[in-house]
Amino acid sequence: MCGIVGILGASPVAERLFEGLKRLEYRGYDSAGIATLVDGQIERRRAEGKLANLAAKLASDPLPGTIGIAHTRWATHGAPTEDNAHPHIVGDVTIVHNGIIENFKPLRDELIAEGREFKSQTDTEVVAHLVDRELKAGKVPRDAVAAVLPRLHGAFALAALFAGEPNLLIAARLGAPLTVGYGDGENYLGSDAHALAGLTQRIAYLDEGDWAVLTRESIEIFDRDNQPVTRQIVASGVSPAAIEKGNHAHFMLKEIYEQPVVVAQTLRSYLRAVEQRVAMPQMDFDLGSIERVVIIACGTASYVGMIGKYWIERFARLPVEVDVASEYRYRDPVLPPNTLGVV
Ligand code: GLU
Repeated sequence: MCGIVGILGASPVAERLFEGLKRLEYRGYDSAGIATLVDGQIERRRAEGKLANLAAKLASDPLPGTIGIAHTRWATHGAPTEDNAHPHIVGDVTIVHNGIIENFKPLRDELIAEGREFKSQTDTEVVAHLVDRELKAGKVPRDAVAAVLPRLHGAFALAALFAGEPNLLIAARLGAPLTVGYGDGENYLGSDAHALAGLTQRIAYLDEGDWAVLTRESIEIFDRDNQPVTRQIVASGVSPAAIEKGNHAHFMLKEIYEQPVVVAQTLRSYLRAVEQRVAMPQMDFDLGSIERVVIIACGTASYVGMIGKYWIERFARLPVEVDVASEYRYRDPVLPPNTLGVV
C-alpha cells in the first residue's frame, strides 16, 4: 500500500503535502513525488527511495503553488525509479494513482498505435494519456475524467491536477480507499484519515466507484453512474500524535510495542465488566457449523493470519489456511460448504 495526498490551499502547499506523505509512510513505499501548479503550469519533484531524498530536492529546488497532489509509490508496474515515480504528466494533466490498472496493456497498445509516447513503464501513465486525449478532443477536465473512468479495470485511487485550473482537483476510487477532507477555504483529499490528520478532522469516505470534483469552496461527489451523491461527513478521530513514530526507530517497532494496548482495547470492547461476561458480536451464522477457515490477507496482516492459524487450530481444532490476497484474487479457489473466510 502506498499513499495519495491532495490540497487545494489558501497558502503554499508543498510542505503540507510532504507532511501528509510522512503520515502515510507507515504503509511502506519505494519512491515519492509532489506536483503543484506554478503560474498555472504543472511543476513536479520526484525522488527514488526515502522521503528524505524528496525533501532534499524540495530544499534545493522549492515548489511554490497553492494547489497540489503528492504520492508515495509501491511499484507494481516498472522499477522503483524516478522516471516511474508519480505524479505522471501528459499534456495538461498530471495524475497520481494507487493500485493497478489491470487492462493497462491493451489501453497502452491503443495509445501507442495513435502515436503516443510513454515516458514510464507504469500502468498509471495510461490514465494520464487517456485523460489528455479527452482534453485535446475539447472536453473540460470533469467530462474528460468521467469519460475515462469506465475504461479502467482494476483497483485504483486516483487524483488529477490540471494546468490552467488553479481551483480544481479530481479524484476517483474503485477497490482502493480514498477520503476527502473539508477545511476552511481549503479542501483536501487523502488515502485515509491518517493522510488528512493535521489538515482537518472533517472527512468523508468515498464509496466504491465514486469520483469527486474538489475546489476550495466545494466538494461534489458522484457515483459510478455519474449521479450526484452525498457521503456522510464524519469526525476523523485520528490525532496526528497517533501516527507519529514517537521515540521508536521505525513504525514496525512502534507497532510491536503498541500490541499490549491494542489487544487490550480490542478485547475490552467485548467485555461486559459489570455483568462479568463476554459479549460476542452478533453473527448471522452459527459459528459451531464452521468446518474450515481460510484467512486471506497481505503483508503484515498475513503474518497475523499465520499466528491466527496456530491459535485457531490449537483451540478450535479447525483446519486453517492462510492465503496471500494478491494471489488469491486470480485463482478459482475450491471452497467447500461451511468454510469461514476471514478477509
Ligand atoms: N501501479 C502503479 C505503479 O506501479 C501504482 C502503484 C502504487 O499503488 O503505488 O506505479
